[in-house]
Amino acid sequence: MCGIVGYLGEGNVYDILIKGLHRLEYRGYDSAGVALVSPSGNINVFKAKGKVANLESFCQSKDLSARAGIAHTRWATHGEPSDVNAHPHFSEDGNIAIVHNGTIENYKLLKDVLEKHGCSFHSETDTEVLAQLIEYIRVTNKCSLLDAVREALKQVVGAYAIAVVAKDDPDTIIAARQSSPLAIGIGENGSYFLASDASPFVEYTNECVYLKDGEIAEIRRGVPLKITNLNNEESTVDVTTLQLSISQLEKGGYPHFMLKEIFEQPSTLRDCIRGRVVADGDRININGVNDNKEKFRNAKRIVIVACGTSWHAGLIGKYLLQDMCKVPVVVEYASEFRYSNPIINADDVVIAISQSGETADTLAAIQIAKEAGAFVFGISNVVGSSIPRETYAGCYIHVGPEIGVASTKAFTGQVMVLTLLALAIAQIRGTLSDEEIAKVGKCILKLPDYVEQVLKLSPQIERLSLIYTYARNFLYLGRGYSYPVALEGALKLKEISYIHAEGYPAAEMKHGPIALIDQEMPTVIIAPQDHLYEKIVSNVQQVKARGGSILAIVTEGDSVIANLADHVLEVPDVPECLSPIITSVPLQLLSYYIAINKGKDVDMPRNLAKSVTVE
Ligand code: GLU
Repeated sequence: MCGIVGYLGEGNVYDILIKGLHRLEYRGYDSAGVALVSPSGNINVFKAKGKVANLESFCQSKDLSARAGIAHTRWATHGEPSDVNAHPHFSEDGNIAIVHNGTIENYKLLKDVLEKHGCSFHSETDTEVLAQLIEYIRVTNKCSLLDAVREALKQVVGAYAIAVVAKDDPDTIIAARQSSPLAIGIGENGSYFLASDASPFVEYTNECVYLKDGEIAEIRRGVPLKITNLNNEESTVDVTTLQLSISQLEKGGYPHFMLKEIFEQPSTLRDCIRGRVVADGDRININGVNDNKEKFRNAKRIVIVACGTSWHAGLIGKYLLQDMCKVPVVVEYASEFRYSNPIINADDVVIAISQSGETADTLAAIQIAKEAGAFVFGISNVVGSSIPRETYAGCYIHVGPEIGVASTKAFTGQVMVLTLLALAIAQIRGTLSDEEIAKVGKCILKLPDYVEQVLKLSPQIERLSLIYTYARNFLYLGRGYSYPVALEGALKLKEISYIHAEGYPAAEMKHGPIALIDQEMPTVIIAPQDHLYEKIVSNVQQVKARGGSILAIVTEGDSVIANLADHVLEVPDVPECLSPIITSVPLQLLSYYIAINKGKDVDMPRNLAKSVTVE
């Protein structure tokens, strides 16, 4: 995790770096820092605990002149968030500075060796070890910065995206990656940008090079970019044209990115569906499926791997794929899957889901699945990220950049893609009739309008949130398709309001959580009109019988639960398989308003970061 920015050029280095850090702050905000290579060949490092704004205050009245620089916003893995642990880190002699995203797993071993050679350390980070190692090699071998970085990285076990500057080479930044993302922007007049994603430089250039694992870039002012690998073999420089626009990265009049992203969902769903639901809803067209029909037709099993919110989307995927394609599906946390000696067969299809496309555990799960000979399909949002590169085929959710740390539009985008995927596979396997596919397909075309209707509940949810803000624990219950929605609703509340919430399959309540129910603990019940409706009505009654208060999400016109629950939110009637998209939106708004009432920073909740690119 964390955000890295670098710049080399005639523009205002400090301003470009700070603006870039703000764009990347969603990736981590424990501390921030800059290293400015001054015209006189010094490296001035300024850093501060907390958000980028703290760094800016700290830098007022400092000499910020620079010809190049690197910057970092941290999500701590080694050492507490503090000024001293903030990046950039220096080598012992102060000659080089480095920013790093990732973890150096053998840092302790390397540190012990360096200490024996006389290095002393000032921070608790793994990153400082890398800074010292690079400089130690550079001095001992009397080699260039590029060669020293290469030799150092050969000794490193772990994940990294790094940017390194040296005092005596002020027109150069060396950058490298292994399992953490890094993009290089090619600017005008020989200038270069560097960042964890392209957002910091989108207004300066649309020419971008995504560094690949194991690659090292030598970025020199006015000189064409040179990319080599750890064996010093030169790679071709693949330039991509960026499609991102600045307006996608701004709040557009909303007080928070999260609220903007919740309200964007009708349009993000339209973008996600476009070109995929064809012939007036009669057919589903997913290129990654069409091109691999045999794999999907012959699959004996589907294994879904994901983490966090994507795992919840994956669980909905299980219900969809089993219902529509009659194929067994298992859903695994990628972090557990990778260490569970998983049994994967060559006739399995593995679906990996990650918004960023960079989730470390999900990438590791993909490798395992590939080694076992399975066909691996990726679902991600970020074009050009690692998951689309590492999988055999896939499908983007096309919801645009998601900045709010708590995922909203990416979740509904993932569920939408999984729905389309299930329908497309059912077409190939013949497990749904043309009429059945057309019935759902036509409704999918109307779904963005239904979501627009749900968003009109926002003022009602804002009022209701006042009643629920002071609860200290919540239970979220659902059955069938609504069970993962309950999990996701509880997660949203935890993430941004810091209220303890548990999602549970409603029937399981009787096996434990019912003991928690009293007047102090509200239960949110997701109860649309589906084939389990009668069952959930009795769960509602069980909660009421214990004196618990209930907020229920119900289908319009529901009078049974409306009479039992304390409050209801009515959503449009859609086929059962589409209900998760409709019922999750009010829960996003509920958690948003509760967090706002509590004065929390919804876009940057404590301890979290947007994409988890470390284990
Ligand atoms: N492992 C490094 C640290 O704890 C980098 C973490 C990050 O990616 O922000 O400082």
